[in-house]
Amino acid sequence: MVQALTALQIAHIVEGKLQGDHPGLISRVSIDSRQILQPEATIFVALRGAKADGATFIPQLLKEGIACFLIHEDQPIVDGAAFIKVPDTKIALQKLAAFQRKQFEKPVIGITGSNGKTIVKEWLGQLLSQQYSVAKSPKSYNSQVGVPLSVFEIQSYHQVAILEVGVSKKGEMAALETIAKPNLGIFTNIGSAHDSGFSSTLEKIEEKAQLFRNSDLIIYCKDLKEVAQVLERQFPDEKLISWSDQAGADFTRSIKTQNGVSKIFLMKSDLSTYTFQTGLSDNASLENLTNTIIASLTLGVDAHKIQEGISNLRQVDMRLTLKPGINESLLIDDTYNNDLAGLRVALDFMRQQRPKNRKILILSDFKQQGQPKKIYPEVSRLINSHEIDLVIAVGEEIQAIEEIIDADFSTFKSTSELNQSLKAEDFASDLILITGAREYGFEKVVNHLQQRIHGTTLEINLNALTHNFNFYKRKLKTDTKVMVMVKAFAYGGGATEIANHIQQMGADYLAVAYTDEGVALRKQGIRLPIMVLNPMAESFQLCKTFDLEPVVFSLEFFEQLAQWTSSESHSMKIHLDLDTGMHRLGFEKVHLLDLIPLIKRNPQLEIASIYTHLVGADEEIHSSFSIQQLALFSEMSQAILQNLSYKPILHALNSAGIVAFPEHQLDMVRLGIGLYGVEVTGKYTSELQSISTLKTTISQIKSLEEGETVGYSRKGVMAKPGKIGTLAIGYADGYDRRFSNGKGFVLIHGQKAPVIGNVCMDMVMVDISDIDAKPGDEAIIYGPEISLKELADQIGTIPYELLTNISTRVKRVYYLD
Ligand SMILES: *Cc1c(COP(=O)(O)O)cnc(C)c1O
Repeated sequence: MVQALTALQIAHIVEGKLQGDHPGLISRVSIDSRQILQPEATIFVALRGAKADGATFIPQLLKEGIACFLIHEDQPIVDGAAFIKVPDTKIALQKLAAFQRKQFEKPVIGITGSNGKTIVKEWLGQLLSQQYSVAKSPKSYNSQVGVPLSVFEIQSYHQVAILEVGVSKKGEMAALETIAKPNLGIFTNIGSAHDSGFSSTLEKIEEKAQLFRNSDLIIYCKDLKEVAQVLERQFPDEKLISWSDQAGADFTRSIKTQNGVSKIFLMKSDLSTYTFQTGLSDNASLENLTNTIIASLTLGVDAHKIQEGISNLRQVDMRLTLKPGINESLLIDDTYNNDLAGLRVALDFMRQQRPKNRKILILSDFKQQGQPKKIYPEVSRLINSHEIDLVIAVGEEIQAIEEIIDADFSTFKSTSELNQSLKAEDFASDLILITGAREYGFEKVVNHLQQRIHGTTLEINLNALTHNFNFYKRKLKTDTKVMVMVKAFAYGGGATEIANHIQQMGADYLAVAYTDEGVALRKQGIRLPIMVLNPMAESFQLCKTFDLEPVVFSLEFFEQLAQWTSSESHSMKIHLDLDTGMHRLGFEKVHLLDLIPLIKRNPQLEIASIYTHLVGADEEIHSSFSIQQLALFSEMSQAILQNLSYKPILHALNSAGIVAFPEHQLDMVRLGIGLYGVEVTGKYTSELQSISTLKTTISQIKSLEEGETVGYSRKGVMAKPGKIGTLAIGYADGYDRRFSNGKGFVLIHGQKAPVIGNVCMDMVMVDISDIDAKPGDEAIIYGPEISLKELADQIGTIPYELLTNISTRVKRVYYLD
């Protein structure tokens, strides 16, 4: 915080009632009970969310030494701590942030827009930190709670602060504007996607533009017609700094790209010119870079420094990624981030991973200008509070922490020295966080410790997973449980990491198809209850040992399990599958007469849940059949319930069902494909986010003459002279052979490259005649820019099959953006 405060001062600021006493000054705000660093100087704000109420952690936090709380007025208080009571803790948090923001008299930059906010923030942070001590929001903290938390990251010694601000519906910006009050605004761009929070694109722009109500200067691209229209109507000319690829803006831009190098020329209206050079060439990156450059110029960074900074920008976007490491280790790659707020986020992400052998942190000196040495005691505090076992440090300054941390410590002068001494056999099932300043080139360390990956990877965006989960949660009542289907390797996404992530998010149950899948999850430390859809009699012992709950779908199977459990004198939780029309597995109505006595005779088998499955929830033409199924389910399940002294969970809806029949959500729903980003009813397609991107690289490029053929059976014929690229993916990786001969396409530098010839086992050739590409360039096979539904239609299948076909030999990489 910029200014430390007494409890009484805080009570005034948030207009709350103070009860009890706090002797010291408060300089930290926490909303997360697991992130407490200096309890004596922390105020804990108990927020109420859909999932949890922060107030439930108060007893535990009191024990940890927190003595100041901000709570809802209906909460009880206890002796020995100060409590500030308010009607709404979120609003109070925002008021406190607004106060702190006011105390900071240096420039604040506010970034908003649809895409590029985080990238511009990170890049601008890097360029400015060559000259200033910079505070910036960690990751994408840009929401109603995120913006206040970002403001609390600003310290009095900072010389400039960068805040990212996002809104998802009308009416949200006013509160964020009062908190952020940027002096300089940047409007990155506007997406064409229609979100449900706004009635039109113009309305969305107007809402976002409110961030700049009190700004002195606003940077935007005049070529974004609608953005320009709104800003130019709402703000006087002297506040606007526009840029455009045409004449008539404050900065006129022109770009020349040659041999992978782009030159950006900027000409100001007074005819002064600047030239910058970058290895980036795609339009989105160049747009982000132009905004970054103009903001840096506006803040007085000289052109040479800007160029130096650009040369050091990493092309990869900043993200926290989770990668398979050597000897069963798991790597958290944070080589792009090197500020305190980033370290905190990364350590927190580390804590959320499944338990591993040791927690190891590899980090470097912090290399920000103007950053006083007092950052290191703070780093030590973070390390201690996260119970790191081993710290491996590279650099001079970082050695200062050795004395004050509890972990084992080893240190190296340089990254190459570290790399030489890192041996594979020194690691086994460890969790390793690698985070360092760019100039240390820690990607080499990641490379060294990472399991070998062939050119094809499936990247999973954990934030998108959260987004989709919350989309379905919003369709449900607060007490409806969610079972997440992680069968078939979580629809191809990788069961363990996804199960771990949804366990964090508060899912209630998991379901797998086979016992082995459940065993694997348990061995990786997943604790949620797990239902097994299709268990076999041979796996009863495994179910018992690993606490897995089998589905029972026939009388014979019930008897087998009943016998096994009675002779082993084991009790077991089971689930009953009722067949109301699917005709796959399950009890039919005629079976109930025999089933009920069986249930009564075997109380060791506890019925945890009873469910049915809809055959056509995704298609409106089947809705009357679905309703009929639901009615039959109700009738059958009631017949069973009447004979039980306890109440099992009832559930019927899959992803499509949640959307189509929310009134039948019962006690629980079973979420599958929707979580993975495909909304199969087609009603809310734009509201889900694609969670995965399947990528590969170009291995070789060939120039061919008209009439030459490509691949097996000479199926691909060049219609005119051109170029083809050979990609490192084939049907053995799950790239369907039906994509052969132009049925499929990939994206290279954002352009479509159609498949030419037959897909081979490990390779496929694409026509890149019109694309400027080189070997090693990336090709996107599936991803947010490509509709899985359309691709699936193209070859007569469904998105489910495309997702689950991705071979396990394709490495999965998980990230938070
Ligand atoms: C796979 C499965 C689901 C999930 O279906 P989605 O369409 O992917 O949401 C639900 N219930 C059962 C029994 C399943 O087998």
